[in-house]
Amino acid sequence: MKRAYNFNAGPSALPWPVLEQVQAELLDFAGTGMSIMEISHRSKDYDAVHNHAKAMLYKLLAIPEDYEILFLQGGASLQFAMVPMNLLAQGQTANYILTGTWSEKALKEAEKLGGTFVGGSSEDRNYKYIPALDSLQISRDHAYVHITSNNTIYGTQWHEFPDTEGVPLIADMSSDILSRPFDVSKFGLIYAGAQKNLGPAGVTVVIIRRDLLTNVPEQLPTMLKYKTHIDSNSLYNTPPTTSIYVLSKVLDWVDSRGGLEAIAEHNRAKAELLYDAIDTSDGFYQGHADPEARSLMNVTFTLADKDLEAKFLAEAKAAGFVGINGHRSVGGCRASIYNAVPIEAVEALRDFMLDFRAKN
Ligand code: PMP
Repeated sequence: MKRAYNFNAGPSALPWPVLEQVQAELLDFAGTGMSIMEISHRSKDYDAVHNHAKAMLYKLLAIPEDYEILFLQGGASLQFAMVPMNLLAQGQTANYILTGTWSEKALKEAEKLGGTFVGGSSEDRNYKYIPALDSLQISRDHAYVHITSNNTIYGTQWHEFPDTEGVPLIADMSSDILSRPFDVSKFGLIYAGAQKNLGPAGVTVVIIRRDLLTNVPEQLPTMLKYKTHIDSNSLYNTPPTTSIYVLSKVLDWVDSRGGLEAIAEHNRAKAELLYDAIDTSDGFYQGHADPEARSLMNVTFTLADKDLEAKFLAEAKAAGFVGINGHRSVGGCRASIYNAVPIEAVEALRDFMLDFRAKN
């Protein structure tokens, strides 16, 4: 087979060595005579996988011991609701910084559950930038401050995080977790759907500082309480075992590549290839994001000429580049270059962009 040039935004490319290992173990996992999909989530064989995935997250992200890691279902979208259900007590106000569609969606869920305040937004310029840290309005009374660390649709990314002076900082890191080192202790809670840098869809990773859960309403349904999952090591009910198994392999792969410093360097080199092609095109390609807010995960751009843009997308598809279309809500072009996208694929896309420009 020929491996596709996969630039999908999520689910997205997985590391080839991980796929090979999954294939090799598919019919007989750890000598059990069964596949991972067929064994009990209460078995010692599964337990080893589950706890290894947690241990590797603690290691790779340098997560302090007072944080718990949860493996939940319902995607990042369920976290939009679980965060305010658990952390926004009656009479309190939660602060949402709006940097794109996903932060808007997170805010919308919180509005159903309690008081909200928008302490910063880049909506005025079509989410092309990240608000300046010193422009954010944050009050000590806020229950928490919520940000989206990487805006998958608009292609912007926070490159520095706000100091919230004791107010818990909560981040949706769905599209850039594990792409670079950062200080977990600056955050109260981090959540991420797995289907970009972490593994296949089906599991959502939540990293939570245990002391945040002092004020949770008793009447919350059991499955929607973080405490239920903390107390049961995310085994209150059947977890998405296969997704967690692949996640554990992806984490081993990141470790084998030298951890997050090495991954971040690789990611920077990949992004630079595409942004250079855009910046040296004399306006033929136009980046959506302001340069200082550019995402190293999702490179978003348009072509000055809309007819040529359609032609570019059609020819890119015919040339074997998958997932280059922008999100259905904004159009244009987007190349998602998560950890597992090899630099050779990015070089091929860069060459295609240069060639298309020369010919048109
Ligand atoms: N947040 C961000 C930043 C995302 O990119 C996505 C999905 N693309 C979501 C939330 C929604 O995630 P899910 O589909 O896991 O609910």
